[in-house]
Amino acid sequence: MYKFKFYTSFLLMLFFFSCGQNPFTGKSTLALVPNSQILPMSFQQYNKVLEESKVIKEGDQAQMIQRVGLKIANASERWLAANGYPNYTDNYKWEFSLIEGDQVNAWAMPGGKVAFYTGILPIAKNEAGVAAIMGHEVAHALANHGQQRMSAGQLQQAAGAVGMLAIGDDQQSQEIFATAYGIGSQVGVMLPFSRKHETEADKIGLNLMAIAGYDPDEAAELWMRMKENSDGAGPPPFLSTHPSNDERIRNLQNWSSQAKKEAAKFGVNSFQN
Ligand SMILES: [Zn+2]
Repeated sequence: MYKFKFYTSFLLMLFFFSCGQNPFTGKSTLALVPNSQILPMSFQQYNKVLEESKVIKEGDQAQMIQRVGLKIANASERWLAANGYPNYTDNYKWEFSLIEGDQVNAWAMPGGKVAFYTGILPIAKNEAGVAAIMGHEVAHALANHGQQRMSAGQLQQAAGAVGMLAIGDDQQSQEIFATAYGIGSQVGVMLPFSRKHETEADKIGLNLMAIAGYDPDEAAELWMRMKENSDGAGPPPFLSTHPSNDERIRNLQNWSSQAKKEAAKFGVNSFQN
């Protein structure tokens, strides 16, 4: 059980002591909630989702999710080590689950906790498509995008008349957490991250999939299939802060050859689909 409660003043104190550098962008990011708080909560939330879901543990599809996940995790660690962050994922407990469900969805939580829903597999189409999604979601988790959203959500709560802020096993915290990590929202339909974070995750994810040995050209193809699947039913442009499907596809096409060059630095010169 994880049932700590903190007073707002204590939390606000923590806020100011945990600015860190994002190893992926080299920019300093405002990490308002430290990993020591985030990871236990992440692991707890992940287990809760698994308990409430039908997890597929056997068969070709489950094996594929495992295989791609381990390769993306390995690529992440090699890339981080090569860029001067060899211990970045020390407290990670990588886990890749396939959940039975129609939703076109996949997500990754901090600490390497990843879930794919069976509904996304027809759109992923092949293993490289799965790798493109996995790379993108893992990139969000590694770059602490959710943490930044969670912090913003908590700050909003703190700024309100709440007075006391609880982190832990209560409904409110779980809602903040779920919102921060986009659990339950659909990839390509209701993207939970900002435009900047989406673009960042696309770029990092492309490198990760290439280093893992998957053809980065497939990422643009994947988003074309996402576009077809959403059938033009995305949010109206004035409401959406996310890159449009067309912009995203163009970017991924442009960045693909650079991702292959990045992979070559790790001795990876051939790419599978
Ligand atoms: Zn995303």
